[in-house]
Formats: sequence, C-alpha cells, structure tokens
Amino acid sequence: MKRRIASHYALIDSRLERNIIVEVEDSGRISAIERTEDIDRCAGVEFYPGILIPAMINAHSHLELAYLRGAIAEGSGFAGFARAIGQVRGNYTPEERIHAAEVADARMWEEGIAAVMDIANDDLVMDVKRRSKIEYHTLFEHFGINNNDVERLESLTKRYPLSSVTPHSTYSVNDSSYRRIATTGQAPLSIHFEESDDERALYRHEGSLWEWYERMGWECDFLDYGTPAARIVASTPRHRRVALIHATRVTEADIVAIEAHFDIKPTWVVCPESNRYISRLTPPMALLRSKTCEIAIGTDSLASARSLSMVDNMRQLGDIPLAELLTYATRGGARALGIDDRLGSIEVGKCPGLVILRGADLQSLRLTPESETYRII
Ligand SMILES: [Zn+2]
Repeated sequence: MKRRIASHYALIDSRLERNIIVEVEDSGRISAIERTEDIDRCAGVEFYPGILIPAMINAHSHLELAYLRGAIAEGSGFAGFARAIGQVRGNYTPEERIHAAEVADARMWEEGIAAVMDIANDDLVMDVKRRSKIEYHTLFEHFGINNNDVERLESLTKRYPLSSVTPHSTYSVNDSSYRRIATTGQAPLSIHFEESDDERALYRHEGSLWEWYERMGWECDFLDYGTPAARIVASTPRHRRVALIHATRVTEADIVAIEAHFDIKPTWVVCPESNRYISRLTPPMALLRSKTCEIAIGTDSLASARSLSMVDNMRQLGDIPLAELLTYATRGGARALGIDDRLGSIEVGKCPGLVILRGADLQSLRLTPESETYRII
C-alpha cells in the first residue's frame, strides 16, 4: 500500500513549493514526488492543511536532564545556571530521572523529531533512548580541567551503538584530553562554544570563569591558544565534523577562522530558547547568515527551556524566511550528524518521516503563536 500525501506547501530542497504530492510506501520510504496543477482533482490523496516537512533533527539536547524542568530559575546567568545544576542534581531519584526522560522522548516523537544529537554524562537514560522510535546519537561529554580520564567515556561508547566522546567546551577540558578526543574516531564533535563573554575572557586571565578557577587552584594549560576559536583551529583535525553549540558571543573573525579550517563545513547549532532562559542573549543569526554558515537548531535540555519544541525555537530566531528556518530544523541537523543521506529532507529513496506544520500564516509564510508540528509518518 502506498499513501499519497499533500499539504498547502511542502518543503522540497529548502524551498516551500505548492502542488506537491509525496508518495510513501508502508516502510516510510518515499517512492515518488509528483508535481500537479490541481491537487483537488487528484484521487486518493490525503490532504493535511499546513506545510509538509520531513521529520526534524534536534541538533542539541541533554535528555538525561529532563528531570530538571522548571527546577532552575530563568535569567540566572551562565555561572548561576552551572552552580544551580550542581545544587539541585542530587534531589531526584534515578526512577524520577528516567521517567522524566521517557516523557520528554515521547513528546519529541509526537512533535516530529526523527533524530537527536544528545549529550550525556553517564548511561542512566540510555535504555530510554534504545527503546525510543527516535534515533539518538549520544555524545558522552568529557569535562574537568584536571580530568584526564577519557577512558571512562570511551568504555561507555563500546557498550552503546551510535555513541561517541566529545569535549564539553573550550574552557572546561585540558589540552591533552581535548586533543585525544579530537583525534580519535570519526563521529561528529559537539562543543559548547562562546555561550558567554567569560569564555573568551578566560584566555585573557579575566572574568568570572578565570576567578573561579583561580579560587579553586585549577590551572589551564590551553590559554596560550589565545581565544576559544583559535584553540579549536589549532587542536581539531581538519577532517573532523564539528557542531558548535550556542555561539551567542562569537565574532566575525572567529567564524572566518573556523570556517577556513575545516574540510567539512562545521554546523552552528543555535538554541534560542536556552539562551533566553539562561542569559537573555540571542544567537548571532545575522552574522552566521552573512557568512553562509550551516545552521541547525537545538532545544538544549528542559533544565534551560520551557519545552523541547523545535517550533518554539524557530519562532525565537526572528524574521528569517520560513523555508530557511525549516531547513535549519531538518536538513541542518541531519548534516550536523552526517546522516543527511537518510534523514532531514523529502527525497525519493529516503525514509525521513513526515510532519505537518499547522497554524502558520500561509499568506505571509510566517510562524504565528499558534504554529505547531505533528507527525503523520
Ligand atoms: Zn548543552
């Protein structure tokens, strides 16, 4: 049995097109994309009001933190947020944490997410991900200025398929651990990057991160690189696929240096809801777009977001053409994970999953407060 599916618009090759019928096999494989003059006259077409898009890719989340929904006050700032996570973490049982992950996972599936680039510190919720219909790529994050024990995470990756190790950031990992991770394997790296001014200030021996490390007596052996961006360029192999998360304080010079270094264009993963929640900063959309960067969207975790809604994040990115926003949320994330040959776009031969965006203004092609997505395949 084949289903023939149509909507007011369909996202095809990063454009919103009218009069498209997508033919799908039982397996979810797209067998044909037809262009017609008059959908109303075509027999056997399921018509859904709205916009037909491939299932989305959430390019940055921490499913294991779902239990912290609402636990940390909004606007506490970058350092305040990190401190608060440490304080509330111990207040929940493993069962509560696993249950919260199950609820968040089910919600993401219904909203139409096909795959997640998911950060983890341990394997508590790996079973939730294994049972999920969503394809999780787990990146175990290494951090700790004095922590050289990359082996702990490497041994976890041997136990779980689709898992790898990544450095947490350019301010929380020492030189040898960073280099070891960056030169091991082929999986994408996901690096929290320039989320606050303190990250760059650290390299000048200033700011609250620097003061905190001074108080703790922690010595950084990577400050001679000069800036977070210069460190990435100097210590990450050119061939590595890299996702840079947040980048709210990135400069044009940083972007130019990083884009010039890598053979595969890096993906800039923006998380506007998380930025709003923590620091009231916004992603550098004008800068990233002016440099024709590859962009994807991450929801981050429920510790720093009201919901894991991709549409809510798109809405917060400002006045950007809808086709472009939808491309960030679909093909952008698939590229970040290197799975764009299978997921993230409506193309014959792929099984991307199909989703309807409803409640958008179909005249102006803009999102409205009522816009939302739901999965049909
Ligand atoms: Zn994160």
